[in-house]
Amino acid sequence: MTSQKVREQFLNFFKNKEHKIVPSAPMVMKNDPTLLFTNAGMNQFKEYFLGNTKPTFKRASDTQKCLRVSGKHNDLEEVGKDTYHHTMFEMLGNWSFGDYFKKEAIAWAWELLTEVYKIDKDCLYVTVFEGSEDADQLAMDKEAYDFWKAIVPEERILMGNKKDNFWEMGDQGPCGPCSEIHVDIRSAEEKAKTPGAELVNMDHPQVVEIWNLVFIQYNRKANGQLENLPEKHVDTGMGFERLCMVLQGVQSNYDTDVFTPLIREIEAITESKYGKNEETDIAIRVIADHVRAVAFAIADGQLPSNTGAGYVIRRILRRAIRYGFTFLDTKEPFIYRLVNTLASQMGAAFPELKNQQQLIENVIKEEENSFLSTLEQGLVLLDSVMKSAKDKKVDGDKAFELYDTFGFPIDLTALILEEKGFALDTEGFEQALQAQKARSRAASEISKGDWTVLEQDTEQEFIGYDALEAQVKVVKYRKV
Ligand code: ATP
Ligand code: MG
Ligand code: MG
Ligand code: MG
Repeated sequence: MTSQKVREQFLNFFKNKEHKIVPSAPMVMKNDPTLLFTNAGMNQFKEYFLGNTKPTFKRASDTQKCLRVSGKHNDLEEVGKDTYHHTMFEMLGNWSFGDYFKKEAIAWAWELLTEVYKIDKDCLYVTVFEGSEDADQLAMDKEAYDFWKAIVPEERILMGNKKDNFWEMGDQGPCGPCSEIHVDIRSAEEKAKTPGAELVNMDHPQVVEIWNLVFIQYNRKANGQLENLPEKHVDTGMGFERLCMVLQGVQSNYDTDVFTPLIREIEAITESKYGKNEETDIAIRVIADHVRAVAFAIADGQLPSNTGAGYVIRRILRRAIRYGFTFLDTKEPFIYRLVNTLASQMGAAFPELKNQQQLIENVIKEEENSFLSTLEQGLVLLDSVMKSAKDKKVDGDKAFELYDTFGFPIDLTALILEEKGFALDTEGFEQALQAQKARSRAASEISKGDWTVLEQDTEQEFIGYDALEAQVKVVKYRKV
C-alpha cells in the first residue's frame, strides 16, 4: 500500500465516523510563545482542551506536520542512528472534544488497524496505565483495560507506568491516562526467542510504538491536585512513517516509499550505496530526514537564521551537510537537489512544497555553499595547525579555536587528525569548551537568544550543540 493511500485511508476512516477533516497546522509556530514548532497533532487544539475556546465541531481528524528537535520532545540525537525517529514526521490523529471517549477511541483504533489496514492481530500489543503510588494515588485505568479486553487477548494487554502512559500538557491543565499500541514486526524465529511483550518500550527497532490514545479526563490544578474534568476528550497520535513501515512489510521507516525516492537520489548524486556500511547508512538517513525538516520549515516561512526557530533550522541543515561532507565526501552543494524529489513525493498532500519549491532550493543551496566554504577554510587552517604541531600532537586550544571561530566540528578535526597520524589533546579541548560554555551561560542570562525553548512545562533551555556531536550527546541543557 502506498503511503499516499495509507494517509487517505486514515482520513476516510474517521470521516466516515463523522470527524471533520482539518488541514495540518503549520509546523512552525507563529503565535505561541511556549513552543517553536508543532510537536504533536493536539497542538492546534490546545485552546479547546484548556477550555479557553469552544470548538464548532466535536470530532476532528488530520495528518499533522510535526518537528521534534527541541524542548520536551527532542529526538534529534536518535535521528539517522535509529530507523524510526525523525525530526520531521507526520502524526495522524483523531480527536473528540467532549464527545466520544475510551470505548469508541479504542474500538475504532483496533478496527482501523486490523480490518482496514489488515495488520495481523498477533503482531499487536496494547498498553494501559497501571496507576500510580505517588501523590496522585491514581487507580489503574480499568475502563480502558475492560474495553481492550473485549477485543484483545489479555496476554497482549500490558501495564504501563506514568512516564509512558499518563499524558500531561504541562504542570497544570488537562491530563489523563493513555493507551498505546505497539507493533512487533520481527521474524517468527526472533519472536520464538524473545516474546514481544518483553520488548515493548525497550527501544527495539522492530517492536515499535505506533499509536498513542490519550484520554483527557483530569485537570491538574495550580496546587498540583487532580480534579475530574466536566467534559472528557480524546487525543490520539499515530506515527505515519512507522505505520507505512508496517503496512509495506519493511523493517525500517527509511525503506518505505516515504523515504526511498530520496535515498535513491542521494545514492545517485553522491555515488554511494545504502545498506552496505553503517556509517554511510547513518549519513544517508540523516540527509534524507533533515532535508524534509528544512524544506517544510522553509515552506512554512521559516528561513535559516542566527536566532530562534531559524537557528534550529540552520543547525539541522548543517548537521546534514556535515554528515555528507564527512561520510559521503560531498564537497559541493547537493541537498537542495533533493527538494524536487521530495516535492514530487509529497506535493500532493502538502502543496506548499511545490508552491515554494524554487525558494526552498535557493535557500538550501545558499546555506550549503556558505557552510561548505566554512568547512573548507577550516581544513586549510587545520593543515597549518598540523604543520606547526610538535611531535604530531595538536593542542586542544587549537582545535577549540577552529571549532569556536570557524564552526569547524571537533569530530571532524579528530577524524582528520587521526587519518594523518596526529594525536589530539581532547582534554585540553574539553577544558576550553567548558570555559566557553560558562561564558555563554553567563551571557544567556542576559539575552535569551538562540535555542531558547519552548514549553511552559519544561524547565530546560537549549544552550548549544555539544561539540562532540557525532560521538556523544547532540544537545546540552541547563536548568533555567
Ligand atoms: P517514542 O516512544 O517512540 O519516542 P513517543 O511516545 O514520544 O514515541 P508520542 O508523543 O506518543 O510519541 O507521539 C505519538 C506517535 O507519534 C508515536 O506513537 C509514534 O508513532 C509517533 N512518533 C513520535 N515521535 C516520533 C518521531 N520522532 N519520528 C516519527 N514518529 C514519531
Ligand atoms: Mg519520544
Ligand atoms: Mg513512547
Ligand atoms: Mg507515546
